[in-house]
Amino acid sequence: MNKLSSIETFLLDLDGTFYLGDQLYPWSLPFVNACERLHKRFIFVTNNSSQNGDHYVQKLRKMGVAITDKQVFTAGQATIFYLKKYDYPKRIYLLGTPALEEEFRAAGFILTEKDPEIVVLGFDLTLTYEKLERACFFIRQGLPFIATHPDLNCPTPEGPIPDCGSMIALITASTGVKPKIIGKPFPEMIEALRERYGLEDPSTVAMVGDRLYTDIAMGNAAGITSILVLSGETKLEDVDATNAETRPDVIVENLGEIVKGL
Ligand SMILES: [Mg+2]
Repeated sequence: MNKLSSIETFLLDLDGTFYLGDQLYPWSLPFVNACERLHKRFIFVTNNSSQNGDHYVQKLRKMGVAITDKQVFTAGQATIFYLKKYDYPKRIYLLGTPALEEEFRAAGFILTEKDPEIVVLGFDLTLTYEKLERACFFIRQGLPFIATHPDLNCPTPEGPIPDCGSMIALITASTGVKPKIIGKPFPEMIEALRERYGLEDPSTVAMVGDRLYTDIAMGNAAGITSILVLSGETKLEDVDATNAETRPDVIVENLGEIVKGL
């Protein structure tokens, strides 16, 4: 906990860390207020690509969190960053929600079912059998297959629902092809965050989240402080102290407990 006072930038997960569904946790606004008082930066980093960056900015503002557009970074945005940085072709067969489609179009990509050059899979809440069939067809033809994030389930107030990682499993089972995955915990997400936010000194950055195999694994891979909150899907007994990849540096009940260590 005494590490926390030296942290200047908090990368914060959303679902299970800052809110659950539309319900802000009671400790979230006090955390934000403490960061502001102490001049610490916070950036929301979510794998959930079923919505675009603007949606999360508006949602958080409605919940009373005063943030700029730049304080939210999604796996969808990281995927766009990656495709542009490595000069991927612009014609995409995208499995995604209308919000994700809008974000890709705004970034200059052409979404098409006819002669695409890559297949991109997001957390598609509008997924149909027809979309799956077409994606598998293109992937079998040898098109690059990119997925926004690996999460198997998304937490909701009614319980977990199948997320992008489960959709990947289905497509991989059919085609035998594994995608390039971009979101937490992969180095592509870390690279995008570093370049966008200039996180030069890892000793001053922390990743806070409720999921071991995404949030904590990314914090550890990036060499920054990883902080597990127990307000989401992980219970204390789920932590495997022998697994360095997913072993958090700090474990707290919730964000409110971090405030005490600042
Ligand atoms: Mg989470």
